[in-house]
Amino acid sequence: MIDLHTHTTCSDGTDTPRALINTALAQGVEVIALTDHDTVAGWEEAISALRGEIELVLGAEISCLTENSTSVHMLGLLFDGTNPEMLSMLEQTRDDRVPRMIKMIELLNDAGIHVSMQDVEEVMPHGATMGRPHLADAMVKRGLISSRDEAFKDLLNNESKFYVAHIAPTPEAAIAQIRAAGGVAVIAHPFASRRGETLEAEAFSSLVSAGLNGIEVDHRDQNNDERAMLRKIAKELDLVVTGASDYHGTGKLNRLGECTTNREQWEKLEALADKRRVVRADRS
Ligand code: AMP
Ligand code: ZN
Ligand code: FE
Ligand code: FE
Repeated sequence: MIDLHTHTTCSDGTDTPRALINTALAQGVEVIALTDHDTVAGWEEAISALRGEIELVLGAEISCLTENSTSVHMLGLLFDGTNPEMLSMLEQTRDDRVPRMIKMIELLNDAGIHVSMQDVEEVMPHGATMGRPHLADAMVKRGLISSRDEAFKDLLNNESKFYVAHIAPTPEAAIAQIRAAGGVAVIAHPFASRRGETLEAEAFSSLVSAGLNGIEVDHRDQNNDERAMLRKIAKELDLVVTGASDYHGTGKLNRLGECTTNREQWEKLEALADKRRVVRADRS
């Protein structure tokens, strides 16, 4: 079982990196990618939790904005986590998530929905990449709503009047940076229409020119028609097809390994990185 997209307490997941590895081991996952939003903070702990035969793919899910302000998520896998330009790109996005959260809270307060930055800081794990799910958790704690999912239905989704974007690279810039750091770039859930506006099919050729390697096709937020269109695009553009859970612990319904990547596609993707960077338990 190969699952190439998961989150931990280093962003908006609820399992620590150690707990994620333990869950993966318990469920027989053979290859797991750690892809927290805009951070590599969980890498060390995940590596130290390894045992047995499981293979760890270190990565990040990079928040991007197209020229016309469509939100796109880019999975960067197997890149050099010490690459200064890569780290500074991620840091810039993380830094801007704080003023962005303040703006969203102001809009909610103006509408009579009372939640504060202090509430968000109280529910958010220390050092995590701050995101809307933490704002949802703060509103749950205040008794305003009952779950993260409920928060996204009306208040926090991308189409909501309370939504504010944060600074983010274009998808092309993120792809170029991932590749410059030796990694591979897979666009995450590009046709997940239930989340809001999605990429146009025509946009893929520009991403391929920037160095895109793969498309996440099997993901719970993409229906069968959306997956079929993506599979066709991947075939036409010779891109790797992946599937993944986008596991967030108890933060979402997604179960680890609910969607997976085929071994042959994974091997093709892994071979596109500049070095063999998959991590295994140290047996020395
Ligand atoms: P942010 O990074 O603050 O823009 O928040 C994005 C995160 O919110 C995603 O990674 C998901 O975990 C979650 N999310 C986004 N849209 C939805 C949605 N429609 N329903 C549930 N969770 C969502
Ligand atoms: Zn998330
Ligand atoms: Fe995503
Ligand atoms: Fe994700």
